[in-house]
Amino acid sequence: MNKNSSNIMALAPNTSNKRETVCIFGTGDFGRALGHKMIQSGYSVVFGSRSAQTSGLIPKDAEVLSHTEAAQKAAIIIIAIQRQHYNFLTQLAEILHGKVLVDVSNNLKINQYPESNAEYLAQLVPGAKVVKAFNTVSAWALQSGTLDASRQVLVCGDDKEAKQMVMDIVRALGLTPLDKGSLLAAQEIENYPLQLFPMWKFPILLSLGLVTFFFFYCLIRDVIYPYVYEKKDFSFFIAISIPNRICPILALILLALVYLPGVLAAIIQLYRGTKYRRFPDWLDKWMLCRKQLGLVALAFASLHVLYTLVIPIRSYVRWRISSQTISQALNNGTEPLNTTNAWLSDSYLSLGILGFFLFVLLGITSLPSVSNNVNWREFRFVQSKLGYLTLILCTAHALVYGRNRFLNPSSYRWYLPNAYMLSLIVPCIVLVVKFVLTFPCLDKPLTQIRQGWERKPQYSE
Ligand code: NAP
Repeated sequence: MNKNSSNIMALAPNTSNKRETVCIFGTGDFGRALGHKMIQSGYSVVFGSRSAQTSGLIPKDAEVLSHTEAAQKAAIIIIAIQRQHYNFLTQLAEILHGKVLVDVSNNLKINQYPESNAEYLAQLVPGAKVVKAFNTVSAWALQSGTLDASRQVLVCGDDKEAKQMVMDIVRALGLTPLDKGSLLAAQEIENYPLQLFPMWKFPILLSLGLVTFFFFYCLIRDVIYPYVYEKKDFSFFIAISIPNRICPILALILLALVYLPGVLAAIIQLYRGTKYRRFPDWLDKWMLCRKQLGLVALAFASLHVLYTLVIPIRSYVRWRISSQTISQALNNGTEPLNTTNAWLSDSYLSLGILGFFLFVLLGITSLPSVSNNVNWREFRFVQSKLGYLTLILCTAHALVYGRNRFLNPSSYRWYLPNAYMLSLIVPCIVLVVKFVLTFPCLDKPLTQIRQGWERKPQYSE
């Protein structure tokens, strides 16, 4: 009798300020933190514990009862207990029948068990309606009040009504529920807090690989080569010169890699004549981490700016300038200003400044707080049109830096071209292919494909 009446009580819409009673099994860190937050939000909380004794840590407005007694008082029971202790719940199967059990548990490792903890709970108490929620929120955040409404609580479960009840609680606590579907999604939700920057893995590993490659490349060309052939010790280049070579190279290559998957996707769609076939997995994953690639590129570009700013105070640079001045004085003649060189040098700097400015603008618009405030067209304009303009300016910056050095044999030490020349390969390919794709004979069919047209329709009428 008790069992059913508590269910009906909780399912009835809440018309007063006082909300329904919620039961929490477990008076550990998470149970207590959630209990506190719920009491603050107007819920009555009853704890189910192995020991009915209260302690100073337990919210004073909450009751602490045995599991059986506490379960009878509410329709929703939050299981704030580690999965390995769930076994005792089988003895309560009868009392838990028809109740909403909220599984908040996390694991120590990704895919630690063959089934999710929530599915395991549903197997142990088959008559209950299990909902997964709250596992992405920490006890500390609940207690310290560092949660804000933008914090999402991922919710899943097979029973729609039960899920709705839990989502109402989430909203009442000032959080945002995100319905992830049936209980099958629980495994993914449980893995979520255990992932370490999944979208950053590829950009960071790629950057580390490229940094290592270009470091040794520059070391061979700029330090080892002069030492072998001219007995000059330029090992101090490792501190500033080489990093200041690697940073712009990485920034340019990674920026080009942000736009390369889009170009490849266009080629694939043109080739297949449809947009309704999935891209290969590697391309899908690459497209998903474009924002992260762009932000890593921006970090390298910013470092390049900082390294460049210190150039005038470097002792090697000051020594070179003074020795040039002295040699001109000794030769009793000053070199006339080469206007072409002055033009090229100023253009190179100006292109770099404009490129960096747009780069920063791209970075800012990729922040959620900014991107949430622009519409789809504005976002596409910034990320695509301004993005390509940034790539053009940065590529032009590197091309003008190279000037006539591309064909100069002294640029090739041990047949190795200057590192910046390598950095131009990917951006130039992206820009040329993108330019070709704007030709009407390619752009028109591509636009049609993206609007749903198919060369060979899969489902002809
Ligand atoms: P905890 O501090 O160790 O508390 C667990 C509680 O479970 C204990 O206080 C105890 O409560 C109860 N318990 C322990 N052994 C038991 C047994 N053999 N039988 C029945 N009950 C037992 O752990 P917690 O940090 O609160 O975490 C609880 C759950 O919330 C875990 O599944 C965890 O993954 C999840 N979670 C925690 C956090 C967090 O930030 N801590 C965040 C998200 C999710 P009684 O003494 O009252 O019986």
